[in-house]
Amino acid sequence: MVNFPKPLLLDTPFEKWEWDDVPKYRREQVRHWIFEKGFLQWDKMSNIPKNLKSDLAKKVDLAPMEPVKVQGSTDTTQKILWKLRDNQFIESVLIRATEGTKGVRASRLTLCVSTQVGCALGCKFCASGLDGLKRNLTTGEIVGQVLMARNEAGRRIDNLVFMGMGEPLANLPALLPALDTILSPQGLGIGARHITLSTSGLVPKILELANFPAQIRLAISLHGGDDETRSKIMPINKRYPMTELLGACEKFIGQRKKMITLEYILIKGVNDDLKQAELLAEHAQRLNAKVNLIPYNRVDGLDWERPEKEQINAFYKTVEREKAPRVTLRMEKGHDIDAACGQLRLKEIKSQ
Ligand code: SAH
Ligand code: SF4
Repeated sequence: MVNFPKPLLLDTPFEKWEWDDVPKYRREQVRHWIFEKGFLQWDKMSNIPKNLKSDLAKKVDLAPMEPVKVQGSTDTTQKILWKLRDNQFIESVLIRATEGTKGVRASRLTLCVSTQVGCALGCKFCASGLDGLKRNLTTGEIVGQVLMARNEAGRRIDNLVFMGMGEPLANLPALLPALDTILSPQGLGIGARHITLSTSGLVPKILELANFPAQIRLAISLHGGDDETRSKIMPINKRYPMTELLGACEKFIGQRKKMITLEYILIKGVNDDLKQAELLAEHAQRLNAKVNLIPYNRVDGLDWERPEKEQINAFYKTVEREKAPRVTLRMEKGHDIDAACGQLRLKEIKSQ
């Protein structure tokens, strides 16, 4: 735990803000400034009396972080590097896509959110895990990414994916209250079906999450069809091997009646042979899960590579042929801006 000089207001759910004798309507005005307008500076709140603002400013911090670098373009993908109050760095990524059916096209904005500074799980291919875990993010730092990225984008965020730095399920004590604020119409008002948590497979936490009341979506980072392949790149597989992981997914689905997604990054010569594609399709069928194939994004300092186009296509076709319920191939947007999680932060740390 880090001890900051002042508590962060966003760490506490709105209903539990304790301001002693501050009248209810004033609290509602502050809530409006923060969640409806996205203002995280006391002095900008024009209808709040000056002395109250300076009292509040002495007691609590409003802004969990500041943007230090924004990379990419406003019509595709933008990566934001944040500096936290203890000078740690994290990243969030804004991803724009045009979606729609029957001729109605809409532009959708997705935010990829971080949940930890670094990651303890040390997947061999991942930039976030290279340096180990520094610390968990607080509730306010998770909510703050959404609020402040919304300010950067200048529009509503439609979808959230917890696929940034860190393992969301290793930080449930901070994440679940953050989700309450994100889901609440009094907070950010983003619907549960627009929120996806991605996990490398923390079995007991998957079972715990199955009891969370809101119908948020779950994605499992599988990256291997069998234990041998998965264990080569994901140390977590030794603690929770695939039988246990798939069993936990089955229980999760049983309780939630929502399709889950199996994420599968394709790494040349490591997990891209067609036998793995067959196994992946088998698991997807058993769980009635969607499969999302993601060609690997190179990470500075690591030797892993994405397979050739032909191999990627052959893998995709095999998963489809073997009757996985639904398969998508996500050519990573922002390949050019270090889009894989954790890369921008590593560069920032190295440059200091
Ligand atoms: N810790 C969670 C969520 C964060 S990682 C998890 O592992 O699921 C989000 C996703 O990005 C995971 O599927 C992860 O395997 C993937 N990923 C990590 N490094 C990557 C890279 N270099 N290229 C493509 N995907 C990557
Ligand atoms: Fe952690 Fe996910 Fe990266 Fe693995 S892939 S090291 S679990 S952030």
